[in-house]
Amino acid sequence: MMNKKLFLNKNFTSNGKPRAYIELKKIETLWFNTGTLCNLHCNDCYIESSPTNKSLQYINLIEVKKYIKEIKKNNIGTKLIGLTGGEPFMNPYIMDILKYLLKNNFKVLVLSNGMRPIELKFKKLLTLSNLNNLTIRISIDHFKKKYHENIRGYNTWEKVMKNIIWLNNNGFNLNIASKVKFDESEKSIRDGFHKLFKKIKLNIDSYNKNDLIIFPVMNYEKASTEITQDCWKILNKNPESIMCSNSRMIIKRKNEKNTKVYPCTLITKDKEFELGSDLVTANKKVFLNHPFCSQFCVLGNSSCS
Ligand code: SF4
Ligand code: SF4
Repeated sequence: MMNKKLFLNKNFTSNGKPRAYIELKKIETLWFNTGTLCNLHCNDCYIESSPTNKSLQYINLIEVKKYIKEIKKNNIGTKLIGLTGGEPFMNPYIMDILKYLLKNNFKVLVLSNGMRPIELKFKKLLTLSNLNNLTIRISIDHFKKKYHENIRGYNTWEKVMKNIIWLNNNGFNLNIASKVKFDESEKSIRDGFHKLFKKIKLNIDSYNKNDLIIFPVMNYEKASTEITQDCWKILNKNPESIMCSNSRMIIKRKNEKNTKVYPCTLITKDKEFELGSDLVTANKKVFLNHPFCSQFCVLGNSSCS
């Protein structure tokens, strides 16, 4: 369990130091969480998605349009729209949303587990206009079936391989999201994926950090370090490199009528991070008062001491 004494005060860490915060530069990327329902139940899903988790409702086209209109009206300058879940292709409005965003000339990045829900939409995906503006990011947790299925479940490997090959052969822009297994170097992960991509004739460069994105594994059992304002210097890290300096995410909670703005894709439950319902007023400082802020965004393998 997480150490309960940490992450209690928004402004100060547990030892009384000013907590680090991030200021919004510009909303380069606007994310929509399309809903928490997912066909899989991965054992390390940071958003705890599953076939029964309905804590975030399916977002619909009317809600998406509201924010796109706000971007245009206020010249917010957002160019990239990200769609994440759960599994976005389970959302019944997904094709309408994609069609609308692509018609409006946005770049669109959609995250998928590459399983049956996206496969069911293959024919419809081919009919979209501006397809060159669409990128699909598929999660492959490891280049070996055994480790991928340890996380994603039995019988998930062959299906994702088959669907990736289909997407690749049909000219879709693809990239892959993976994770660092505790005892592996980045190089060995990239080497392993290089062999896999070669074997299945995938047009993806595993040594390119935009083509193969490697995320840290979140360790919920491990107490996280809190990030003070001094940490930026100690770690030689620029706050502007952190997601919430250039992004926002829209969610719609179960039993709530209005959508809400959050700083990033990682935090959806903690109401302290809620930034209202509109983008123009969602430019408040984000205090790094959550274990994900340090584990995922700031520390990685570094130490702030
Ligand atoms: S496929 Fe993605 S959203 Fe679904 S449970 Fe796994 S990690 Fe979570
Ligand atoms: S987890 Fe925290 S630091 Fe990372 S992007 Fe989200 S709010 Fe910012």
